[in-house]
This record gives sequence, structure tokens and C-alpha cells, in this order.
Amino acid sequence: MKTLTIIGGGLSGSEAAWQAAQRGITVRLLEMRPDKTTGAHKTDLLGELVCSNSLRSKEPVTSAGLLKNELRMAGSLLMEAAAGCSVPAGSALAVDRKLFAEYITQRLLTHPLIEVTREEVAEVPAGPCIVATGPLTSDALSDSLRRLLGGDYLYFYDAIAPIIEGQH
Ligand SMILES: Cc1cc2nc3c(=O)[nH]c(=O)nc-3n(C[C@H](O)[C@H](O)[C@H](O)COP(=O)(O)OP(=O)(O)OC[C@H]3O[C@@H](n4cnc5c(N)ncnc54)[C@H](O)[C@@H]3O)c2cc1C
Repeated sequence: MKTLTIIGGGLSGSEAAWQAAQRGITVRLLEMRPDKTTGAHKTDLLGELVCSNSLRSKEPVTSAGLLKNELRMAGSLLMEAAAGCSVPAGSALAVDRKLFAEYITQRLLTHPLIEVTREEVAEVPAGPCIVATGPLTSDALSDSLRRLLGGDYLYFYDAIAPIIEGQH
């Protein structure tokens, strides 16, 4: 297989890079920080948590807890990182955000099949690619996605606030 390009070294891009590389796929991970930042991220670290340091419930009877168990079974880098830097938070899994991102960064930078490049991607590239740039995708890439998808707007659906759409 060709090299897999992953745009965005935040939470999802970091995990995707790890999962692909662990399966023998060569990965090129492109992250625009620190040259260009999002306004919410504060470091140049891969896997930086934006805002809350809580990854929600650890209890396997909840959907969030069950998902964590499934991630662990899949060899998740994020779960491995969280296990080593959790902080007390009752039934929730909360982490020291700096240690969490430092661990992820170190694991990705030292993986033999992952090449990390610090640059803003302005165009969706040809070939196998995962766009993992999150709700704060840079303007240039948003424009490229808009042209590719043919829509006027891109939307960020927050996981907490339920959004109901309907037509009369
Ligand atoms: C202000 C704010 C607060 C939030 N608070 C919470 C919260 O408390 N709890 C919660 O669960 N969720 C929160 N979210 C949602 C949060 O973004 C997601 O939970 C999570 O970060 C999404 O992961 P991701 O990998 O999709 O995006 P991110 O983790 O944001 O990763 C995207 C990465 O892509 C990079 N990038 C963007 N554009 C480009 C480009 N053109 N080229 C190269 N790299 C690029 C960015 O620098 C970033 O590193 C918040 C979001 C925002 C904006």
C-alpha cells in the first residue's frame, strides 16, 4: 500500500496514525502547529486535549466506559497514554493533559513507520488520506473541502448539545 497521509495531529489523527502504523502501514502525519495554531490549542504537542481534561466515565456500563474498553482491546494509544497519567476524578477518567500529550508525541515521533511533518495542508491531497483536523480546521483547508464537497458550509456538531433538524 502507498503511504497513508493523515492531516491533523490532534486526538483523532494521533490515534489514526498509531492504529495504521501498528498494522504495518507507512504514515505521513501532517500537523500545522506550532507554525500555525488554532486559537484553542496551547502547545505544539500531538494529541493535545482542548479544554476539559476529562475523558468521561470509566464505568463499563456507560457508553463512554464501554468505548474505552473497546479502544483498549484495539491497542489504543490514547488509552495507553491515559493509563499512565490519570488524575483522581471519581468515576471519570481524567488525565494530566501535559503528560498525556507528551506521551502521545513521544510514541508517534519514535514509531519507525510514522513520519511527522509540521506544515499546514491547504489542499486535500490525492491518494489515501484521513482528514482529522477537527472543528478548528484552518481556513485554507476548509475552502479546499468546501470545493471538493460542493457545499456552502461545513458544520461542527457538538457531542454534548443534541441538535434536532426537521422540515415541515
Ligand atoms: C474551544 C473548544 C473547546 C472544546 N472543549 C471540549 C471539551 O471540553 N470536551 C470535549 O470532549 N470536546 C471539546 N471540544 C471538541 C474537541 O475539539 C474534540 O473533543 C477533540 O479535540 C476533537 O479531536 P480532533 O482530533 O477531531 O480535533 P483536534 O484535537 O482539534 O485536532 C485537529 C488537529 O488538526 C490540526 N489542523 C487543523 N487544520 C490543519 C491543517 N490545515 N493542516 C494541518 N493541521 C491542521 C490542528 O492544529 C489540530 O492539532 C472543544 C473544542 C473547542 C474548539
